[in-house]
This record gives sequence, structure tokens and C-alpha cells, in this order.
Amino acid sequence: MIHENGLQNESKNGSPSPLPQTGGPVHLDAESAGGMSGAASLCRRAAIAGAGALGNELFRQLGLLGAGEVLLIDPDLVEASNLAKCAFFRSPGAAGRPKVEVLAEQGAALFPETRWIPIAREIADVGWGRLRGCDLLFGGVDRDSARLEMARISTRLGLPVCDGGMITSGAAAGRVSWFPGREGACFCCRLTARRRREYLETWSSAAHPCHVPQERGGWSATPAVAAVTAALQVHFAFEWLRRGEREARSIEFRLDGALRLEEIRIPLDESCPFHTAPLALVPVEGPFSALMRHGQEIAWEWPLCLRARCLDCGLEFEPRLRVTRFRREGACPRCGGRRLLELDNRNRIASGDPLSRRTPEEVGLPAEHLYSIRKGFLVEEME
Ligand SMILES: [Zn+2]
Ligand SMILES: [Zn+2]
Repeated sequence: MIHENGLQNESKNGSPSPLPQTGGPVHLDAESAGGMSGAASLCRRAAIAGAGALGNELFRQLGLLGAGEVLLIDPDLVEASNLAKCAFFRSPGAAGRPKVEVLAEQGAALFPETRWIPIAREIADVGWGRLRGCDLLFGGVDRDSARLEMARISTRLGLPVCDGGMITSGAAAGRVSWFPGREGACFCCRLTARRRREYLETWSSAAHPCHVPQERGGWSATPAVAAVTAALQVHFAFEWLRRGEREARSIEFRLDGALRLEEIRIPLDESCPFHTAPLALVPVEGPFSALMRHGQEIAWEWPLCLRARCLDCGLEFEPRLRVTRFRREGACPRCGGRRLLELDNRNRIASGDPLSRRTPEEVGLPAEHLYSIRKGFLVEEME
């Protein structure tokens, strides 16, 4: 059955009739929007990580479905090179502005049923309190390090991820994967032991790792392949969400050569470190010290660089940035030098540490983040 949509751009006999000239946003009820109210009610709140070619298409799909609320997450600005693959960045004045702000504006005009929330940050710099209430996280990123960060968020928060990826070789092929959370396989389960070790070293070690994994960003896929990938992502994500699918799986497709559309189960890898028993996560309001008793420490996932020295001019400064981001983008605030020595990297603060008198935001942690409280190295005080 073909649904007639509320725009009435064709009259009953099939001849075109003009769109209503209201000038304001078009309001659709769920039925006229294609009977997708089921999908919208399943997913009251979703997040899209990445606002490139895939992210634009995911945005369009969720808008048409009438999703309740969507977080748009991407730190980048619109560049001229994005226009070939991102329809929604072609609006006047979009160039040079944060991608997610442009999308949110477009969303307010085109899909006003949905509340669009722009967050111009990397996925690892979004407070977990903002992600915890989501039903689904869509991945539209082009780096495996970001996929791994999403896997950590997914397994810690029990948040299903539906990730999209396109073949970088130029073939018309892609993959859509469902990672249900801690109980099923995650993206990290799929990595080889060596690759996993390389990535996790960049997360956890206080010292600079011997080898930072090199990643190519960007996609060579055509707009059609991006549209197909995002459409499959949204279609299957709602199907998997509806039936409460607890097993990780992928849909792989290939549109050239030997045509293929195949569903593959992804087994949980027992050696993957992301599936251990969960620690409780709590918000911190005010200074860290307000929440800690003697001998405890408050920990978060990704280490921050709190103090660094420029090897060119000798300046010591407080970057207050996630270590992986500091290594990628850090520069001396005085001379712009990139030869930087990390002096204090950490992902925890112990009670009694002078830093515990600061708030999370004052050390560079995201707003509305979540933390675990652990027994530290000191002997816990008896009460
Ligand atoms: Zn895993
Ligand atoms: Zn310097």
C-alpha cells in the first residue's frame, strides 16, 4: 500500500498540484508522515555521531520518521568539500559554521516534530549523562577510534549502537552493524588483538604510547551508497530495537560486481575488556571532593592532559583536553609549537588531591558527565 502523505503534492488523479503556500513549517501527523509513529515511539531519543555524508542521511531519515529528540554530535565545521555529499550543508551561509548547528537549523525548519540538539564535540567529549537517556546511538563516523569510543559508551551505558560504514576502496559496498550493549558483542570484539592493544594503550597509559594508530579519515563512497547505508541503518535499527535484539549482527551489502546482501552474526569475544561487570555511574555536581570520602577516588573513562610543557619555548600550561585529542590537535598557546611533553595525564582524582577541590568542568571534563567512585590506594577510613 502506498501512503498518501500530507503534503498533497499530487492530486487524486495524479496530476501535480502546488504545495500549500503557508510559508511556515509543515506539520504532519504521525499517520500522514507514513505511519511511522511506531518507530518514533520506540525511539524517543536518539543520537547521531558524525555529521558527514552518512550523518546527513541519518538526519533526513530520522526527521522523516518523526523521532522525538535527536542529539547531533560532530566537532567539525562545514567546508566547501562537504557539499558534494551533504545536501543539508548547501543552505546559504552554512560554510564555516559547525555542521551540527547547520543541521539543527535545517531540522527545525524541515522536521519541526523533532527536537534537534546540536553538540559540536567529538563523541568522546560528550557527557555520558546526556547519552544515558538515549534509546539508540547511530554511528556515522569514518574513524575506527571513534567506533571504539562508541563501543565503550555502549557497553558502559547499555546503549545500543547501530553503526554504518562504507568501503573506502571506492567499491559500492557497505556494512550496517548492530551492537546491543554490554551483553552482546561490541565493535572492540571485532578488532584483532594487536589493533585492540594499540588503541587501548592510547586511552589508558599515562605515558605516551610507542605507537599511535594511524587512521585515514574520509570516504570515497558516492552519495547513493551513503544514502543506501543510512537507510539500511535506520530501517534495521528500528527492526532490531523493536524486537529487542540482544545479539550483535551486521548487514553487509555490495552493489557492484557480485551483488550481495547478507546478514552476519557477530559473536562476543571473551577476551574483549568491555564486558566486565558494570561499576555504578554517578554525576558530580560541584567539586569532586563533595562526593568523596577519605581514601576514595573518582574515575572517568578517557584520560585528560592537565599539564604539559612546550619543548620549543619551555612554557608550561594546562591543556585540560582529552589526551588523544591533545596528541592530535594540541599546540603551545604561546608559540604554537607542536613538540609537547605531557606532564600530568589522568583519568582519576583521589581524595586529598588539590585537584579534588575543582569541579569537573574546571579540569576540562564534559558537562553532565558520569563517574565511578572507587576505593583508592589509601586505606579507607572506618566509620
Ligand atoms: Zn566487546
Ligand atoms: Zn611554545
